Amino acid sequence: MHATKALEEADRLMTVCNSCRYCEGLCAVFPAMEMRRAFTDGDLNYLANLCHSCGACYTDCQFSPPHEFNVNVPQTLAKVRNDSYKFYVWPRALAPIFERNGLAISLIAALSVGLFFFGLMAINDPAVMFGVQTGPGAFYRIMSHNAMAGVFGAAFFYAIAAMIMGFRMFWRDIGETRETLTNSVSVWQAMKDTMALRYLDGGGPGCFNEDDRPTDRRRLYHHLTFYGFFLCLAATSTATLYHYLLGMQAPYPWYDLPVVLGTLGGIGLVIGPAGLMWAKVKRDPALRDENGRSMEMAFTAMLFLVSLTGLLLLVLRATPAMGTVLALHMGFVFGFFITMPYSKFVHGIYRFGALIRYAKERRALHEPTPSKARALGVPDAKAGI
Ligand code: SF4
Ligand code: SF4
Repeated sequence: MHATKALEEADRLMTVCNSCRYCEGLCAVFPAMEMRRAFTDGDLNYLANLCHSCGACYTDCQFSPPHEFNVNVPQTLAKVRNDSYKFYVWPRALAPIFERNGLAISLIAALSVGLFFFGLMAINDPAVMFGVQTGPGAFYRIMSHNAMAGVFGAAFFYAIAAMIMGFRMFWRDIGETRETLTNSVSVWQAMKDTMALRYLDGGGPGCFNEDDRPTDRRRLYHHLTFYGFFLCLAATSTATLYHYLLGMQAPYPWYDLPVVLGTLGGIGLVIGPAGLMWAKVKRDPALRDENGRSMEMAFTAMLFLVSLTGLLLLVLRATPAMGTVLALHMGFVFGFFITMPYSKFVHGIYRFGALIRYAKERRALHEPTPSKARALGVPDAKAGI
């Protein structure tokens, strides 16, 4: 017995696939499945988070609908994966946010933007809020640096703490130990697989999205989003070092490192999410989990708006619109930070964890003796292949 219908269905499909094994070269899910004879809820959540939703195993499957076996692995694992975010959320009381996630994220974003806009209007003289501010410290005439650091630092660290707690629950549920996280070989392999989005290529030809013609577009948009996000993070970290170590206050000239990193990251984080939203609209309904659609759209739209307002701020920072755009940008960034543990953002964390586990299991399979494999805690190693 499993906790949900989606887990029941995933168990049924994994049992069918374990007899067939036609798709074992497509991604990490099938080799990981083959290491098991039976599937606990934790195993299925692990496999679901290992799946990159490339769609290849649906297109290639001889048992997909209208066949009576009704095998649809991408859709079923998407359902399990989306449910898993709710199971592992911290604190548990906030799990209902995942029920109507699109609405919840949109409301929080709107509230956050409204709070920053009207709050800054209330505390600032209109001549300051809607005047032209230039030179070092221009942004801090609208909101002091200490207030910004306090508000955004608190939101960011809360989000990190909540995601660590969620990850702990995921890690325990899939039966993993702390030692696996300290295994540098497995972690390094997972990092390489993540950075290359290795399993989003449908086993080589590309991802299946709207039809049975594979392309690399979804992988490209994911890459732009992923690297755009990290470039923006690097821009913020560099600006913090400039402020505290060099005593240099923002805004910085266009050629300075924080601006260059932020501009490149912002462009990636506009094109990537826009492409992903387009791909989601076009996606074959057979491949998607309808219940998770609003969550995916809300998260991607949030990323898009954070970066769009960031780029607008760069363009308009020396005009009377700076105060308004700064309030909008900070509103979206704050909304993004506090919803990180309660949005699709968590998929990256659980997937990375699943890739670490898979790297460990794969190495164990190539160990010369079963005892070594057992020592690594791999179930049914060797016996399953
Ligand atoms: S998805 Fe279909 S073809 Fe692929 S392993 Fe499962 S049953 Fe076989
Ligand atoms: S959708 Fe792609 S990544 Fe997911 S199980 Fe199928 S082949 Fe693997």
